Order: sequence, then structure tokens, then C-alpha cells
Amino acid sequence: MTLSFDNGPRAGVTEAVLDTLAEHGVRATFFVVGQDLERPGARAIVERAVAEGHWVGNHTTTHTVLFGEHDDPRLPEREVGATQAALGPLAHRDRLFRPYAGGGVLGPHVLSPALVHHLVEGAYTLVLWNCVPRDWERPDAWVGPCLEDVRTRPWSLVVLHDLDTGAMRHLGTLLARLREEGIGIVQELPEACVPIRRGEVVGDLAGLLPSGAAGS
Ligand SMILES: [Zn+2]
Repeated sequence: MTLSFDNGPRAGVTEAVLDTLAEHGVRATFFVVGQDLERPGARAIVERAVAEGHWVGNHTTTHTVLFGEHDDPRLPEREVGATQAALGPLAHRDRLFRPYAGGGVLGPHVLSPALVHHLVEGAYTLVLWNCVPRDWERPDAWVGPCLEDVRTRPWSLVVLHDLDTGAMRHLGTLLARLREEGIGIVQELPEACVPIRRGEVVGDLAGLLPSGAAGS
């Protein structure tokens, strides 16, 4: 499996996540919300993540825009380009981008033709997911469901959240149980979750675009 942490960085939480990952020798990807990079101390946390071998991706500027519901051609620059510029050298060289989906559910609200155009032109890599244990809804009860779900597929890309819900207190438990079960954790991203790689459309986007926009 592969681990990713969305919506941070959050001071007081992300550092502990980094400590736990280091204890277990695990590397992950952090999808950062651009406006949160402006918070005091946030940039230093992301710098630490990069220094420790984690990858950093772009998780939009405001974490509010469902692209499938807004096809304003200026939105991609505001929500993607601006955060990529703010990340600068902290961003992974493959320009990893993960859209906001409003609760982790993939569907036609996630992308727009204008966004796809922006990602292709900008040589971005679109990183989706296939395992959302909904740690924010059940901060003390997500590890079991996460393990159950991970067992159902050969390679899960798990989305967790380095937010102050308390859920990340149980990250060490997840990592220990994965080790007990012999489930390996790699940093690479499964192809099934990466429909655009360095600007090239390599997967099916149809179900992620509003109806009528498929194939554009
Ligand atoms: Zn998110």
C-alpha cells in the first residue's frame, strides 16, 4: 500500500505524523492546502517532510472548489497554479496534484475540462486514491476499517488527514498492524490512481468529469 496525508500541514499534528513515520521507516506523500502554507510554522513543517524523504503535492489553494461544478477558466490558475508557485522547490518534481472532492468520493464533480487542460499544459500528475478510511469522521475507530479495506485490493492508495481531529494518534497502530500482517508500504503511487502522469493522460477521466464533458 501507499500512504498519503491530505489537508495539512497542521502545527502540532503533522510533526507527530512525521515522527511516527520516521519510527516505522515509512515514506509518504503530503498533499498540502496552499492557504495553510501561510500559517505560522507551516512552511518549516513541509520543509522537514521533504528533508525526511516524503513527497509533497498540491491539494488546491482553498480546498473548497469542486471543479465539476465550476468551469470558470480562471479557477485552475487560482486553485492549482498559485499553490504550485507557493510550494516552489518543496513540490515533487512530477508536480503532484490532488483535487478536492468534498468528502473523498470520486465522481463527476471532481474535474472540469478547464482543470484537465491546465494539468496537461502544466505537466502535472493527477493523483487520486482508492482507500478513504474517513479518519475525520471516526478519529478513534478508523484503523480497523482501513485494514479491512486495504486487504481487499492488491495496492491501496490510502488517504489520511494530518488535521487536529485526534485521528493521527492511531497512525502508529495502523503501521504496526500492517507490519504484523506483512503488508508492505511503498512511496510509489499505484498506476490505477494516476490518470494523468507528467501532463500525459494515461487513464480514464470520463467518470470524473461532468456529463457532456467526457472525452474533452
Ligand atoms: Zn482534502
